[in-house]
Amino acid sequence: MTIAAITYHRPATLAEACALGRQHGSDAAFLAGGTELIPDYQRERETAQHLIALDSIRELRGISEEDGLLRIGALTTIAKVAASPLVRARLPALADAARAIGSPQIRSMATIGGNFCRAVPCADTPPAAIACAARVRLAGALGARELDAEAFFTGVRKTALNPGDVLVEIVVPVQPHHSGTSYQRFARRRGPALAVAAVAARVTLEQGRITGARIVLGAVAPTPLIAARAAALIEGEPPSDALFERAGALCAEDALPISDVRGSAEYRTELVRVLARRALHEAVARAAGSAQ
Ligand SMILES: Cc1cc2nc3c(=O)[nH]c(=O)nc-3n(C[C@H](O)[C@H](O)[C@H](O)COP(=O)(O)OP(=O)(O)OC[C@H]3O[C@@H](n4cnc5c(N)ncnc54)[C@H](O)[C@@H]3O)c2cc1C
Repeated sequence: MTIAAITYHRPATLAEACALGRQHGSDAAFLAGGTELIPDYQRERETAQHLIALDSIRELRGISEEDGLLRIGALTTIAKVAASPLVRARLPALADAARAIGSPQIRSMATIGGNFCRAVPCADTPPAAIACAARVRLAGALGARELDAEAFFTGVRKTALNPGDVLVEIVVPVQPHHSGTSYQRFARRRGPALAVAAVAARVTLEQGRITGARIVLGAVAPTPLIAARAAALIEGEPPSDALFERAGALCAEDALPISDVRGSAEYRTELVRVLARRALHEAVARAAGSAQ
């Protein structure tokens, strides 16, 4: 595949992008920041003949809060998500996940939509968003539709997008009062490195007890994995290290890791246990300090 063989489109509106997507179907690829797509063309892993650049579509950009919902446009860069005062105040786990990605150069090009659509198991922002009960809004041939973010991920590099569909935005409810969130990941070195394992948690506290919890595991299954048993274990209980140790053990049991160059399945399982405990402690500390 050479650059000359590609037809480049630059629609100005979402409707035009969807029409082009519909017209060219699986022979089209949407271009966001290009941090994955351009290398994919170079490696001949991507062969679509029509490249549809999304960068002129204003409604895909920006972060806003309205009616109890935080809306993050798919084309918002990872750097903007990491630095956003709204995201940092409302969803610190998501800001932390964004800050963990790549290098400043990568973060300034890469988008949150691309991080979702690429759907690699070690992507950082999806687990943090899912822990906060995010939903995704899609546009395409079937019109607009919205689904829970966890249902967006259907396998390794597989999503609920149909050919020609555009991910428009990620919508996250403002978290309940006295809630705290955390994103903990382990990589083999400081600086740009993919997560070997990650855990995101959201905890709600009332009168010294945990009244709501969501725990999501990253990089240890084909898709982000909701650790429902661990969340059920801690709900209704006062937070304690012993409780979080047991919750971490359940998370480790539920993980479905593989062995690869970054770590063995056994190592990842042990990481999940430790990261889950850390995430729960930080989420509780943030909930206790929450002014909401
Ligand atoms: C050196 C390096 C380090 C990295 N480190 C990390 C890391 O630590 N953690 C991490 O999670 N990721 C990491 N990444 C991966 C990458 O930067 C992210 O996945 C990035 O967020 C992808 O976004 P993008 O805008 O560049 O997507 P693109 O490359 O433009 O697109 C990626 C895919 O998503 C599709 N797509 C993009 N936007 C949309 C949309 N709105 N609707 C429909 N389809 C769409 C494209 O067609 C393509 O298939 C790294 C990448 C590099 C090169």
